Parts: sequence; C-alpha cells; structure tokens
Amino acid sequence: MKLTNRSKVVSNKEQSAMEKMYLPGILKGMMITGSHLFKRRATVKYPDELRPIAAVYRGQHVLKRDENGAERCTACGLCAVACPAEAITMESAERKKGEEGLYREEKYASTYEINMLRCIFCGLCEEACPKEAIFLTDRIVDVEFEREDFVYGKDKLVEKVDKRVDVTKRQTIEVAEFKKLPGLKHNQVFEGKKLKH
Ligand code: SF4
Ligand code: SF4
Repeated sequence: MKLTNRSKVVSNKEQSAMEKMYLPGILKGMMITGSHLFKRRATVKYPDELRPIAAVYRGQHVLKRDENGAERCTACGLCAVACPAEAITMESAERKKGEEGLYREEKYASTYEINMLRCIFCGLCEEACPKEAIFLTDRIVDVEFEREDFVYGKDKLVEKVDKRVDVTKRQTIEVAEFKKLPGLKHNQVFEGKKLKH
C-alpha cells in the first residue's frame, strides 16, 4: 500500500564502462573541491583569529563595583528570579561596620554563582537588576574539562578594582542620560520609591 508520494523510483540499469571506472564522479568531485580553493574562507583559525563581535555581544557576566570600588550587588535576588535557566544562586549577608568601602548597600551577596553550562546568555539578569550590578560582556567563557569549573563564583564574576570592565556600550541611552543628572545618583530615585506588591 502506498502511503505517501515521497518514495523514489531507483534505476536498475547497467553501469556504462565509464561509470564503472568512477571517472566522471571523481572529476566532478575534484571540480567542486577546486572551485572552493578560490572562494573566501568561511572558517577562522580560532583561537589565533577571532571573528569581530558586536559591542552588545552577550558573553561572560561581570558583577560591577561602583566608582569607589564597592560591590554594587545587594543580593536582592531579582536576577535569579528573572533567569529562565535557573543558573543564578546567591546567599546574602549583612554589611558590618567598617565594610562600607567593600559593599555599597547594607545587604550584599556573600556568595554569588552562575552556572555557565545552564546559562543561555539571554541577558534577562542584566535587565532585571535595579542596581546596575550585573552586566553581560563581550568576553567568551573559558573552555573547561570539568563541569564544576563552569560554576563561576564571585572570584571570577566581580570585576577587579584595578581592572575595570567597560560596560558603557551596554547601557541604554536612558540610563546613561539619567546618570548625568547633577547631584542625583541613578539608584537614589529607585530607593525613594516604594515597590508595589
Ligand atoms: S543571561 Fe539569562 S540565562 Fe544567563 S544567567 Fe542571565 S538570565 Fe540566566
Ligand atoms: S546582581 Fe542585581 S538583581 Fe542580582 S542580586 Fe545583585 S543587585 Fe539584585
């Protein structure tokens, strides 16, 4: 019984002498190979060569510090809630007296982890963050041999004080303009508002 029209009728005719030598087939194949020699390469010699990537490429995350070097993250958990891949986990702690230079808010993330194997680099954590603490960057996540090495902690995520990560190209025009307002830190307005439940 014929169920579909997708079946093909296969020729059962005898091969000619030429076909038996496979010469036409070999020549045809060599012509295709030869034609590719003069075409532009589609591949690059990674990692020696890198493809140009967009300024807003979504790669490895960074946890930002403020202008004084204090960690911006207040462990509110909004990024973890927004994450569709459930890649973010954290624990919060209360800032102690004398730690004002280390953490900007009274609550901070004592641990903060992102599982890079779960992450789909969607950028929703970046959009959810009210403190402009987390950004995706144009850095590519390193290759590892062990799965646990892909769980990035604060040691890999928080930017170094003396080696800041530039994220200005990732910020929206509205945020960049808002930061320019004289005497007004961008998050003071946020803090002044009561969040609706
Ligand atoms: S980029 Fe997307 S998937 Fe990755 S941690 Fe952020 S919200 Fe989760
Ligand atoms: S990175 Fe931002 S959204 Fe995530 S816990 Fe820290 S302050 Fe909250």
